[in-house]
Amino acid sequence: MRRLRRTKIVATLGPASSDRRAIASLFEAGADVFRVNMSHTTHARMRELVAAIRELETEYGRPIGILLDLQGPKLRLGSFAHNPATLAKGNTFTLDTDPTPGDAKRVHLPHPEIFAAIEPGHTLLLDDGKVRLVAVEADSHHILTRVEVGGKLSDRKGVSLPDTTVPFSALTEKDRSDLEAGLDTGIDWVALSFIQRPDDIAEAKKITRGRAAVMAKIEKPQAVNRLGEIMDLADALMVARGDLGVEMPLEKVPGVQKQMTRAARRAGKPVVVATQMLESMITSPVPTRAEVSDVATAIFEGADAIMLSAESAAGQYPVEAVATMNRIAEEVERDPTYLAIIHAQRTEPEATGADAIAAAARQIAETLELSAIICWTSSGSTGWRVARERPKSPIVAISPRLSTGRRLSLIWGVHCIVAEDAHDLDDMVERACRLAWKDGFAQVGQRVIIVAGVPLGTPGATNMLRIAFVAAEAARDAG
Ligand code: PGA
Ligand code: MN
Repeated sequence: MRRLRRTKIVATLGPASSDRRAIASLFEAGADVFRVNMSHTTHARMRELVAAIRELETEYGRPIGILLDLQGPKLRLGSFAHNPATLAKGNTFTLDTDPTPGDAKRVHLPHPEIFAAIEPGHTLLLDDGKVRLVAVEADSHHILTRVEVGGKLSDRKGVSLPDTTVPFSALTEKDRSDLEAGLDTGIDWVALSFIQRPDDIAEAKKITRGRAAVMAKIEKPQAVNRLGEIMDLADALMVARGDLGVEMPLEKVPGVQKQMTRAARRAGKPVVVATQMLESMITSPVPTRAEVSDVATAIFEGADAIMLSAESAAGQYPVEAVATMNRIAEEVERDPTYLAIIHAQRTEPEATGADAIAAAARQIAETLELSAIICWTSSGSTGWRVARERPKSPIVAISPRLSTGRRLSLIWGVHCIVAEDAHDLDDMVERACRLAWKDGFAQVGQRVIIVAGVPLGTPGATNMLRIAFVAAEAARDAG
């Protein structure tokens, strides 16, 4: 089963897409990776979802990626004696360590670490930025603030601190336990929410120990400021526009998205553009023009994947939302301007065998108009580096490891086939042609390019390029 687009689609699962049939419909409509949001999912439910996806994978004979999204240190207010409490502009309001229910003058902030980190002048955003406070003074038990933008507050509303680096790690106790459960169940990617610094990634990697790849959700200005260092450690990035748009002025988000997609492409790490991509489709079967343009922008930026959140998790039209993304991606990628636009951002290969070969493979495939670039890849790294080139021809990755195939499902342009390693060069060429033919990537009489590290199974040893002709036997043998 061949997809006719390079950009991948991540669909979040939830009440609107929770049984096997619903998930199958999303997959058929175009979802390549499923996201399980641990802010709203129990361990038992997560295991059921993973089991359903794995059954589908067997049924369709195609690796499917699972992204476990951890809640992270989301800060919340305590409760109020009478809901809601109304804060008026210009008044003072105190956050303190006293668990007594609050009122229009004060409320409990059940995160004692915050008190020492807040400094006068720092902004506090409550309830997704609807209420804005500025700290006037702070000690170990109180933060006295002035209300800049007033409004109503009720129990346990969220708190964002765009100016403050908070002194705790990105992994809460809940995150650790969710992550362990996810790793035991066999997830492929884990997304870390509200990270602030590179150490947050290092901490998660100590736990994953390679069992899942780690995606850094960039949703705080502190993380934007240290993007380079974070990207060095993370395996992928998410432009988490939802919280980013609360923590920084909304009009800055498009620029940050451009910076992030460019930086990730330069590094050859996958980047996912997320949140409100087709928001109106939560309640409408058709998107707005602006949403279609927004999805198209991410595709023109060469993002690896575009993501649906509530649209597929809790909306009325989950399948239509995936199908809409699929249609937009197919159409944008067919547009005569598409390749020139994404190639304007291509960067030079790094001085490694893998990159030199990936760049050469793209060049040869373009010059000779080859129908596919086929990579034999055990860890997937050859596939990642070829994808970094954003070649015109489809990339077919062949790996003996199912886990590699599942991770590659997030990556731009890569179609992964799980098959045992070739035993010699002839086998490598013959089977590459046969598998590409079988999945519809090359016809008899066409030529493909094959990239591999020989001997096979040696990670990081990409050293071979071979142009091959798809002979009639390929079709007959695959028969
Ligand atoms: P969330 O993350 O959906 O978990 O909040 C994405 C975002 O903030 O954009
Ligand atoms: Mn978020």
